[in-house]
Amino acid sequence: MKVLKIDHLGIAVNSIEDGKNFWSDVLGLEFEGAETVQEQKVTTAFFPVGESEVELLESTAPDGPVAKFIEKKGQGFQHVAFRVENIEEALAELKEKGIKLIDETPRIGAGGAKIAFLHPKATGGVLVELCQR
Ligand code: ZN
Repeated sequence: MKVLKIDHLGIAVNSIEDGKNFWSDVLGLEFEGAETVQEQKVTTAFFPVGESEVELLESTAPDGPVAKFIEKKGQGFQHVAFRVENIEEALAELKEKGIKLIDETPRIGAGGAKIAFLHPKATGGVLVELCQR
């Protein structure tokens, strides 16, 4: 499989409205606007940084994955996303290598990207997302 670059870093926040100040006002990153992905019970906000982006994640429901993450670990760094050339190919290759996947087939994430998560148990504790745009 071909990993092209770090696409974005996902950061879990209680509130994008409160959380975005550091990224936009202090660091001066451009706020690209927020988007809700209902299926994932999350609202995301993207801040482009060079070739990559910072993604803030706010849960839309108490039982959503981001809410559960914050409940366990608190706000902060949640996942790293790598852009791949072909996500189906990448998932097939990882499966063949015995890597535990959260998503065996890609789903549609923010911005219409195809995304899939690998299980942190297979990556040394880091939640890894693959995405193809
Ligand atoms: Zn992400």
